This record gives sequence, structure tokens and C-alpha cells, in this order.
Amino acid sequence: GCTAADVVAALRAAAAVIQEHRDELVRLDQAIGDADHGENMRRGFTALLSRLDTEELATPGKALKLVATTLISTVGGAAGPLYGTAFLRASAAVGDAEELDCELVGRALQAALDGVVARGKAVVGDKTMVDALTPAVAAAASVNGSVAAVLSAAADAAAEGAESTVPMVARKGRASYLGERSAGHLDPGARSTFLLLRAFADAAA
Ligand code: ADP
Ligand code: MG
Ligand code: MG
Repeated sequence: GCTAADVVAALRAAAAVIQEHRDELVRLDQAIGDADHGENMRRGFTALLSRLDTEELATPGKALKLVATTLISTVGGAAGPLYGTAFLRASAAVGDAEELDCELVGRALQAALDGVVARGKAVVGDKTMVDALTPAVAAAASVNGSVAAVLSAAADAAAEGAESTVPMVARKGRASYLGERSAGHLDPGARSTFLLLRAFADAAA
């Protein structure tokens, strides 16, 4: 199982990965957006790190809720409310459970995707984080094993899903303003979704 302390450790690892990839995410957003995705995410996850130091987090759900409120208040742009909603729905999906098992992780991922879609109205093929998260949820549901195995399958699928955004023409978010010129570039939000899932998987391994 995966306790609140395990979730907090995974969140710290994810924050470190986002900090390491800040410039890469900026460059991706420079190509098809306004060059702030890396800094938006760095700001949010740096704020999360300091709150993880001070908050008492008794359950995985409380930790996920802290992520949501922190990202909503610090990330900004399109990604802040979308990731905030994702973590809020994930928190609600795991409820008061003391530990996460593979089934709860699968439910949390599905709830996160449903939240992103409810909020942003993007579908697969629109060149957004939904293109990474949708195959990740499907892969997670197809694995019956440890939390680490479920998250690893989700991360692998998210990698492919993020890659699949390269040839796409964006139909949601700032990149859609570019029309056909958005093709040929990796979507920054799809990339950050993959990075987060990879970090969670590595932390669970
Ligand atoms: P902004 O575009 O406001 O500057 P960011 O640069 O932080 O915000 O985030 C951009 C990312 O948000 C995109 O790469 C895309 O993955 C995601 N995104 C934008 N609009 C949507 C949407 N409607 N649904 C899902 N994801 C979206
Ligand atoms: Mg941007
Ligand atoms: Mg912006």
C-alpha cells in the first residue's frame, strides 16, 4: 500500500522533476504558446514543497487536496486550474483511505482525467494534456498489480500520448491561436503530465 508519507515523498520527487525540467517546459511553450508553462509549474511545485514542510497530512487524500489548492492558487494560466481540478478530483476519489492500493490509484487517475475534461472540454486529438492523461488512465486500468506497476504503465502510456501531440494541430488553449503552425511541436502540458506520472511511478518503485 501507499501511505500519506509515501504520497508526500512522491510529491517531493515530482516537484524536483518539475524544477529540473523548468527550462524544457518553457522552451516547449515558447514554440506554440507564451513561454510560461515551465515557470508556472516551477512556481506551483516550489510552493507545494514549502507547504509539505508545514502541513499535517494524515491521509493520501489530504495530501492530494493540498496539491490542488496550492496549484490553483499559484500556477495560473490554463494549466493551474486544470491540474488543480485534477488533483482535487483525485483527492475526492480516494476519500479518507489510509493507504492507496492499485484500484484506488486507478480510480484517482480516472477522476483526474474526468476533472480536466469537465473543466477544459478538450478531447483526445486536441493537442493538450488530455492526450497524455487519457492513455495513462486506460493503461492503469488494464494493469492488475502493485501501485508501482500501475503507475509505471500509466507513465509509459503518457509518454506515447505526449509524443502523439507532435503532429497534431491544436484545438484548445493558446496553441490553437496558431492553427496549422502549431503542428510539429510537443504540447507542453502533455509533457508535464508525463513528467509527473513518471515521477510518481519512480517514487512508488
Ligand atoms: P497558458 O496557456 O495559459 O499560458 P500554460 O502555458 O501553463 O498556460 O499551460 C498550457 C498547457 O495547458 C497546454 O500545453 C495544454 O496542455 C494545456 N491546456 C490548455 N488548454 C487546455 C484545455 N482546454 N484542456 C486541457 N488542457 C489544456
Ligand atoms: Mg503558457
Ligand atoms: Mg500564460
